[in-house]
Amino acid sequence: MKAVVLENKGVITYQDVPTPTPSKGHLLLKVKAASICGSDVSRYAKGHRVYPLILGHEVAGMITAVGEDVSDDLLGKHAAIIPLIPCFHCMECQRGYYSACHNYSFIGSRQAGGFAEYVEIPEQNALILPDALPLESAALIEPSTVARHILDLGNFQPGQTAVVLGVGSIGLMVVQWLRILKASLIICTDVSEANLAVAHKLGAHVMLNPHQMDVKAEVFRLTGNGVDLSVEAAGVPQALAQTIQVTRPRGSVVLGGNQPLDASLPMQFIEDLMRKELSLNGCFMSYSAPFPGHEWTDTVQAIQSGELNMDAVISHHYPLSTAPNVFEEIAAHRLSHQKIILLPELGT
Ligand SMILES: [Zn+2]
Ligand SMILES: [Zn+2]
Repeated sequence: MKAVVLENKGVITYQDVPTPTPSKGHLLLKVKAASICGSDVSRYAKGHRVYPLILGHEVAGMITAVGEDVSDDLLGKHAAIIPLIPCFHCMECQRGYYSACHNYSFIGSRQAGGFAEYVEIPEQNALILPDALPLESAALIEPSTVARHILDLGNFQPGQTAVVLGVGSIGLMVVQWLRILKASLIICTDVSEANLAVAHKLGAHVMLNPHQMDVKAEVFRLTGNGVDLSVEAAGVPQALAQTIQVTRPRGSVVLGGNQPLDASLPMQFIEDLMRKELSLNGCFMSYSAPFPGHEWTDTVQAIQSGELNMDAVISHHYPLSTAPNVFEEIAAHRLSHQKIILLPELGT
């Protein structure tokens, strides 16, 4: 089969690899649509721990083969990948904190992912989908579950106000979940006007470009004393510093963006966090008990009901074969984009 293989830092190729045969408890998914995550690009540009590796964890397709102990009834069914493979035995797994598992694997980062014609996954990592659910939308289930999880971590309640700092792919999903869960005011910030335009279409009420205005002053003008919840989804230190500034006393902050590890934060951040008695929450993946969690079932329902608009989040479609070039363009910041869908069945 054909696959997109990360061979080294900055080296990614489209090549022939053996097609897997599903082992006991596993099944084979014929990939119909896969989406590029910011973390895939960072594995390519900054390097990764395992080579060679087939990337791709935002993936949907059709089950075409099953291993021993997996029912034949699954053949022909559509499924999305649930990428985390927890051990289910360690202390954190038993508490239902699967993303903190002491001994986990992850499809597309620690083992072969779905930027390929086929991917072998454990049966429990297949989220079985209704046949009518569009598979391109299904490829975006995983990033949506992260956004849904972020709102749980921030203890978001209907009627509350929120600021989403950074409306790239996760931020756009957060905006949609805020709308679905009935936020009274959704403010978003981004330096990209294109991202802000999509956020507006998806339900954001106020769009602020920090290059053009004072975000804190504007949030205070609109809310009086800051928002109930702020979400950092940009992965930049300036946005991280702003979370504390725009949140009301006793409000919540959730950090969802991956920050550059060589940056530092002014201690004023801690001072303001303490004075306002804020709740500061990290977010890692999107899981809760029972595995994989309501984040996943909620997302499928919201796509089915039409509340989650995945089409508006997709900016490009490319044949899977062109992935090496697409990665190069993204890493060089030459391709302005929201979600990019890779299609194995589309000719070059
Ligand atoms: Zn991802
Ligand atoms: Zn575990």
